[in-house]
Amino acid sequence: MTQSLNDPVTSLKGIGKTAGEQLETLGIHTIEELVMMFPYRHEDFRLKDLSETPHEERVTIEGRVESIPSVLFTGKKRSRLQVQLLVGNHLIKAVFFNQHYLKDRLNPGQVVTITGKWDRGRQLINVSNFKEGPKIGQADFEPVYSLKGVMKQPTFRRWMRTALDEVADEMPETLPEQLLETYKLPRLSATLEMVHFPSSPDDVKQARRRVVYEELLHFQLKMAALKKVRKEAGKGISITYDLEKLKQFIEKLPFDLTGAQKRVVNELCAELKSPLRMNRLLQGDVGSGKTVVAAIALYAAITAGYQGALMAPTEILAEQHAETLASWLEPFGVTVAFLSGSTKGKARKEIVSRLEIGEIDLLIGTHALIQPDVNFHRLGLVITDEQHRFGVEQRRVLRDKGESPDVLFMTATPIPRTLAITVFGEMDVSILDEMPAGRKEIETHWLKEDSLGPVLRRMEKELQAGRQAYVICPLIEESDTLDVQNAVEVFGQLSTYFAGRFTVGLMHGRLHSDEKDEVMRAFSEGTIDCLVSTTVVEVGVNVPNATFMLIYDATRFGLAQLHQLRGRVGRGADQSYCVLLADPKTEEGKERMLTMAETNDGFLLAEKDLELRGSGDFFGKKQSGLPEFKMADLIHDYRALETARQDAEKMLELDSFWNDSEYASLRATVEASGVLKNERID
Ligand code: ADP
Ligand code: MG
Repeated sequence: MTQSLNDPVTSLKGIGKTAGEQLETLGIHTIEELVMMFPYRHEDFRLKDLSETPHEERVTIEGRVESIPSVLFTGKKRSRLQVQLLVGNHLIKAVFFNQHYLKDRLNPGQVVTITGKWDRGRQLINVSNFKEGPKIGQADFEPVYSLKGVMKQPTFRRWMRTALDEVADEMPETLPEQLLETYKLPRLSATLEMVHFPSSPDDVKQARRRVVYEELLHFQLKMAALKKVRKEAGKGISITYDLEKLKQFIEKLPFDLTGAQKRVVNELCAELKSPLRMNRLLQGDVGSGKTVVAAIALYAAITAGYQGALMAPTEILAEQHAETLASWLEPFGVTVAFLSGSTKGKARKEIVSRLEIGEIDLLIGTHALIQPDVNFHRLGLVITDEQHRFGVEQRRVLRDKGESPDVLFMTATPIPRTLAITVFGEMDVSILDEMPAGRKEIETHWLKEDSLGPVLRRMEKELQAGRQAYVICPLIEESDTLDVQNAVEVFGQLSTYFAGRFTVGLMHGRLHSDEKDEVMRAFSEGTIDCLVSTTVVEVGVNVPNATFMLIYDATRFGLAQLHQLRGRVGRGADQSYCVLLADPKTEEGKERMLTMAETNDGFLLAEKDLELRGSGDFFGKKQSGLPEFKMADLIHDYRALETARQDAEKMLELDSFWNDSEYASLRATVEASGVLKNERID
């Protein structure tokens, strides 16, 4: 009897109710889901020559037992078994931890196969894998799956064997013949065998090539479909702004625009005017001056009789934007209002109703802007700041509030250009790649944690000169509570240290929003000299008089985040400093600190971060709205990503794509996104 892919795993021989439940915790219900669960790496069990094996490398060898094993008990359940092995003509030691019972199976003269870490200096292998007899019969490569400790690897492999034996021949091919041929990709059934039971490294490589390409092709098909719809069917509004008024506004700004700001303003204006719907990403490193660009674009929409909205991820930032934009725009007759979760009762009602009849030109706020009862009269342009903090869904809701407003996402997350264009394939990208004139590079120093004393004295010098400082406390992953505790502690210490000389303030996520406002206002007015904070100040706040930042335990942050934090200083004309206190334990950690000290360029840092951490971590899984891939990595598989993009775009134009059964699996992806339906009827 053969089974179908959609049958539950429990219909397989040897997989009972308990096993079924275990698999369920891994998200596996059907046979198909089981065979499509890919290992995250493969273990290499090929026999190696010890004389060519580097120190600390894992190695598999065959050896003959040469001594009576000795066992040392080091605790209740702890033991250390040691035995001598002859490997070729090498006499080495093998050490087994907590496996004293193997003593009886290690008799002199007996041949064994072991795998473990090679200690070259001590000529010793720390054994992790043991098999009696020569290696024959043991696989050269074994997949290692992410099983979350639910079951053992061999058990899982056994089930995989059963499943593959049942369905391998029935696996319908999901890629069209022509693609398999062009790229010399293995067929799906062969691919699964090669992934789960490889016999050579090349098997793994070929199988991976296919899986990666297929994943990326699905992803790019979705992107291509979205883009096509937007370009062909996406009717937007044409915003005919008043150029004279815009010029006057720019003239009255307290500074001249940078060349990059002018270029981006022109890009935005051209798109506002065109009847195509704007869907654009504006990238600019911290401090590059995105806010004023947003203000100009919003004012443009307002001069054409539309309303504008600006949404920020935190209350603090939203308020600051409201203040800044009001100070620039109100003199030009623009009515600005602020709306956040803490705007309540009568005040809120009034804003909502004035917005609806069009008395408010510009609404600035937090997520509160997209609550169901907030309706605009004539929304023309929506801008979100630090867009990666917004979910895809929220963006859609906001977009749906107007007829079809233009949308601009601003971000300081410096996504490398090449990647941005491909990944945000359905968006256009503008880049602010120039800092306002007169900015000095922030001086960044990496110091060991025992240098706190001198650092504080240096900070004090800045405070004495009338400047202000940020002190960022270590981030404790997944624990708000500990974050806060930490900040409170540091706040206590610094308050004592600076007692009678300088005012220390405290900011963290647990404060009430009005408390936060108060602290932030006091800091920006200069009543607070030194602000102790968690990462809540990370995004966007602007206090140009702050010239010193101390970051505790800096290794806990990623490069991109450190750069964001550092961007809170260096926003005025004075020289600014950033001190990273860190005792990194790993080489990678050291490299990160050195990189931070060396470069101020967010884009370079982003490339480095990607290199060190991979794309999944970089974008942050939840925030990005990017799909998760089983095998593909947006950085390492960049070439395949680009190939897939070109293929996807061509494919949508093929008649066969819409008709042939070969394309059924790929077509399903496009259809599931729902975007092409209307268009095909035309
Ligand atoms: P970000 O891009 O990080 O959001 P902001 O828009 O907050 O940066 O700008 C940072 C600081 O630079 C602000 O104080 C802003 O007023 C100032 N700024 C912006 N553009 C210019 C310019 N062209 N010349 C001088 N200062 C500018
Ligand atoms: Mg900003």
